[in-house]
Amino acid sequence: MGISTGVRKSSDIAGVPCIRYLECMEINCTFTCVYCFQLNETVVDLSGGIHQEYVEDCQVCCRPNLLIITVDEGPLRAEITAETT
Ligand SMILES: [Zn+2]
Repeated sequence: MGISTGVRKSSDIAGVPCIRYLECMEINCTFTCVYCFQLNETVVDLSGGIHQEYVEDCQVCCRPNLLIITVDEGPLRAEITAETT
C-alpha cells in the first residue's frame, strides 16, 4: 500500500484553448455598413486572433467602417460589429 505519487494528470495541457486549428482558416462573414446600411461581405482571417479590429471600406458607399470582430470557437463563427471610425 504505497502512495502513488508517480501519476500526474496532464490537465494543464487540456486547459489550453484549441486555437491552433484556427491559424489557417478564414470565415466568410457579413456586416452592415453603418453609413448606408448595405450588407457587405468580408473574410475574417482567423490567424489574426479571436479578437480583431480593423477598418474596411464599405463596398457600396466606400466609407470606412471600423469592424470589431469576435470569433466564437464553438460553433465556429465570427461576429462583426461595425462602427464609425
Ligand atoms: Zn456603406
